[in-house]
Amino acid sequence: MLEFDNVEVFYGKVQALRGISLRVDEGEIVALLGNNGAGKSTTLSTASAIVRATSGTVTFDGADISKAHPWNVVGAGLIHVPEGRRIFSTLSVLENLQLGGYLVKERGVVAKRIEQVFELLPLLAERRAQHGGTLSGGEQQMLAIGRALVAGPKMLMLDEPSMGLAPLIVAQVMQVISDIRDQGTTVLLVEQNARAALKVTDRAYVIEEGATTLEGRASDLIADSRIIDAYLGA
Ligand code: ATP
Repeated sequence: MLEFDNVEVFYGKVQALRGISLRVDEGEIVALLGNNGAGKSTTLSTASAIVRATSGTVTFDGADISKAHPWNVVGAGLIHVPEGRRIFSTLSVLENLQLGGYLVKERGVVAKRIEQVFELLPLLAERRAQHGGTLSGGEQQMLAIGRALVAGPKMLMLDEPSMGLAPLIVAQVMQVISDIRDQGTTVLLVEQNARAALKVTDRAYVIEEGATTLEGRASDLIADSRIIDAYLGA
């Protein structure tokens, strides 16, 4: 569904990606693991066409999106939840969700998707009139995910959804990601919390210094000494 073939990206003179090759098949949850600055966020931004590849190709759903505009990528159903959530703190939960449907022409479709988000994430239904800024960190992450779902993704890209959350809340976020896949949405997940990510993912790639260096099934990687030493700790 999403494929990177030897993608390179520069920020000015700084080379952030030096050869990213990966694929995410329909129905999978795939994780990108790697240390700070390895190039995980840049990989997602390249898929969203926020950042341009200087070489290599990115395809989504059979189309080359290497030179697409970000709104075309959103329109094609590839939705990015960036790091840091970026919800609107002075708007209500409901208004934040409605903004997720800004490219959807039919109002009825947006309302129906918001009802589906409330079924998946009942805590958002309870807080629908509350300002986004009054939610806890975990609730804000759920709202950011819910807002992305209102856009009607074929594939959701989540950047560090566990950032700054307590372990119990991280487990809840990972469960929601698993539920989203079970409902038919493919997921590409960037995580520094490799332990939490590998519990819900099918496969993962390791990114080091801007290149994909290791790929495998999550069940194999969790027992791989290279992964244990570098990302899982004792
Ligand atoms: P993190 O988890 O810290 O976000 P990451 O793996 O997502 O790390 P990126 O944010 O993709 O890594 O960064 C990859 C490299 O590109 C790093 O060396 C970073 O310093 C550099 N970089 C990222 N954004 C920019 C930018 N806007 N301008 C210049 N360099 C950047």
